[in-house]
Amino acid sequence: MRRIGSNIRKQNTDAKAKRVMRNIIRYSTEEAPRNEYPKRIVSPPKPSRCCNDENRLMVGSMREVEGFKFCYKICNVCGHAVKFYFPAVDSTSDAVKEYRQWKRYMVQ
Ligand SMILES: [Zn+2]
Repeated sequence: MRRIGSNIRKQNTDAKAKRVMRNIIRYSTEEAPRNEYPKRIVSPPKPSRCCNDENRLMVGSMREVEGFKFCYKICNVCGHAVKFYFPAVDSTSDAVKEYRQWKRYMVQ
């Protein structure tokens, strides 16, 4: 019985993690960009030149999973959506600095 119980608990944990981490962005070339947050966001598969920090607007509220804060951002010109991770604020470790630099590089 104990073994069954632990299996069930593990499955629940996995299911929960999957639900939280589920990416709502649907990249499609056939559908027009559409913001149906929090259900889903239809986005072009690739960002364009318009997709900079100025045009990308945060949709919904910030969420946190496993210590990483993130939100969804959509370009208000072409509709390209990204899952945006905020740099950790309560840490100044080298790993975080490295992550920030990497993120900055990815945005450009
Ligand atoms: Zn764009």
